[in-house]
Amino acid sequence: MRAVLVLGSSLPRVGEGLRGWSVSSAGPLVRPSSLASPCPSRRDAWLLARGWRLPRSGAVARGISYHEEVLGVFRAAVRGPGALAEAVSSVRTHAGVWAVGVAAAWLGSGGVPPIAVEPRLPPAAGFTSSRPDLVIGSSPAEVAYTNGSREYLERKRVELAAYALIIEALTKSPVSRGYLIRVGDDTVTVEEVPVDEGLRVEALRAREEIAAIMSSDEPPPMPGNCPRNCPLREVCEGVR
Ligand code: SF4
Repeated sequence: MRAVLVLGSSLPRVGEGLRGWSVSSAGPLVRPSSLASPCPSRRDAWLLARGWRLPRSGAVARGISYHEEVLGVFRAAVRGPGALAEAVSSVRTHAGVWAVGVAAAWLGSGGVPPIAVEPRLPPAAGFTSSRPDLVIGSSPAEVAYTNGSREYLERKRVELAAYALIIEALTKSPVSRGYLIRVGDDTVTVEEVPVDEGLRVEALRAREEIAAIMSSDEPPPMPGNCPRNCPLREVCEGVR
């Protein structure tokens, strides 16, 4: 297993109008997770908001198992060394082993891990109530099974910017960075993501686009360029 840390550049300069406490929206609230949607027409966001579910198979199932293992280890670490020791016995993947190493280092230095695991955040900045995977200090972090897709990672960075806007709106304090915990099939890479103006503008643009789609009673049409590996393909083709 290979673990890598990718540091971002220096802290971004962000204008007051792009801070979470300054932004608002008149449209329907949008799930931050829908910003990571792979669908060119955002049809998946419309379907998932109306109760359709992602099939738990293939890459989706693998991603969920990494995700649950990493968060399970961190959840145990927050409860203390005894709970972490118990959690170790159920670790099955390299991602879980990586999380145990990080959690043990936190606890070994005598500190309380500075993390909240899937904290429920109330609606803010035009987004619905949400649960980022982690909040480390005041910075959001997401676990992403990379599965070789650069586009997916770019969308996850935009989702991180949405959580940063929400946290800023709730705390009235600036959030300058997020963390993307990129899990591959034998690697874990932690990327520091500066939440700069470009990511914020993209998050707000996507929020407006999805809000407009949510207002419609009809799903957006299927585009002609669906990604081959879209997990909703079967569901989606059955919805007219
Ligand atoms: S199958 Fe195509 S239209 Fe349906 S959610 Fe996937 S990408 Fe979007």
